Amino acid sequence: MGIIVQKFGGTSVADPQKIHNVAKAVIREKENGNDVVVVVSAMGHTTDHLIKLAKEVTNTPDSREMDMLLSTGEQVSIALLAMAIQSQGYKAVSMNGQQVGIVTECIHTKARIVDIKTEKLQKKLSEGNIIVVAGFQGVTPDGEITTLGRGGSDTSAVAIAAALKADRCDIYTDVEGVYATDPRIVPNIQRTDIISYEEMLELARVGANVLHPRSVETAKQFNVPLRVRSSFKLDNLGTLIIGVENMEIYKPVAGVAADSSQVRILLSNLPDIPGTAAKLFGALAKNNISVDMIIQSLANNGTNSIAFTVDEDDLDEAIATLKAEKDTVQAAEILIDKDIAKISIVGAGMVDRPGIAADMFRALAEKDINIKMISTSEIKISCLVEKQNANQAIKALCKEFGLESKEIAVVKGDLPNV
Ligand code: ADP
Ligand code: ASP
Ligand code: MG
Repeated sequence: MGIIVQKFGGTSVADPQKIHNVAKAVIREKENGNDVVVVVSAMGHTTDHLIKLAKEVTNTPDSREMDMLLSTGEQVSIALLAMAIQSQGYKAVSMNGQQVGIVTECIHTKARIVDIKTEKLQKKLSEGNIIVVAGFQGVTPDGEITTLGRGGSDTSAVAIAAALKADRCDIYTDVEGVYATDPRIVPNIQRTDIISYEEMLELARVGANVLHPRSVETAKQFNVPLRVRSSFKLDNLGTLIIGVENMEIYKPVAGVAADSSQVRILLSNLPDIPGTAAKLFGALAKNNISVDMIIQSLANNGTNSIAFTVDEDDLDEAIATLKAEKDTVQAAEILIDKDIAKISIVGAGMVDRPGIAADMFRALAEKDINIKMISTSEIKISCLVEKQNANQAIKALCKEFGLESKEIAVVKGDLPNV
């Protein structure tokens, strides 16, 4: 008998009927002879509604109080799912992050898990329970409630799977697996049966929000086999995500993704002296503000310009942080560009294959799409474009790199407002 961790996202538990369907999927795994731990997200768009509610009360909600508020969404769905499982004649118990002992660092709204206690989970499993755990939340060593960042339930599930040394972690969602891009943007897109941790991690980081990036990071670190599969077609195995050594790489590009949640900050007239970048980015890091693309260029008058991107949620804090660095930013001009989307291609097969970047730039140029910034890593190339060009850029790149398919991907649920 093994341990299987299942995770069901918001659309899968959006109403009582769907919660009953999830209960059936859980019981099915239990009937296969496995111990089952289920992680669930908040019902439907609950988290969005809670965020909206907070913003109606104040423009600057305190991050600790945001965590108090947002963590309530998952507490509702765990109780309802446990009841649904019980109503079908099986033993079930719901547990929130604190009850399990999902210990995180104390960074509200984007905490990282540092430890998961397994004693209570093991005890409840040994008593024959199906355990329903609240995703997305944890607790600091001081007892403060934290959340893991949007989409963080995936990470809760994988971290629990790693802690319990589970046989597999199945992420059930509203699509039938991982596709070469978001099937809502390109419906005739290839689905992959298998993808490496490395490629999936890059794809998730650059905007393929089918998986929370840290869930893939954790799966890779602890070698947890991960599946993305459909809540609505339980017999489909979906996509398996595993270590690269098991795979042959045929295609240079495995996927394309867009991230429209960043803003670009341009600092011009900075002093061209050692330590300028260190001071600015050091101050941002101290305030837990992650910086993504960075370009520095020297102007003719001997000053520097630095352009970089941050998450739009961090913009106000980033500007305040930069302005506080008066000695460095003194005469600098700060310009903000919100009209950007980062389009990325990802593929382990692009290593040692020259010309992929040139193909990407040409495909964008052919659609008259201007590139504002470029960055590359070993298996990824990203271009910043105007937001309005994002979908057209994705479609052009899927075509360029042969990722379209004759089959139309099946998509359920509401359309995203990308
Ligand atoms: P859940 O509520 O189950 O966590 P999410 O909305 O977080 O679901 O993730 C599933 C969605 O991810 C899909 O509906 C799809 O639109 C989107 N998505 C983005 N990129 C991809 C991709 N490469 N493959 C599959 N789905 C993707
Ligand atoms: N409910 C949280 C969110 O909407 C976490 C999750 O769904 O994974 O972001
Ligand atoms: Mg999700």
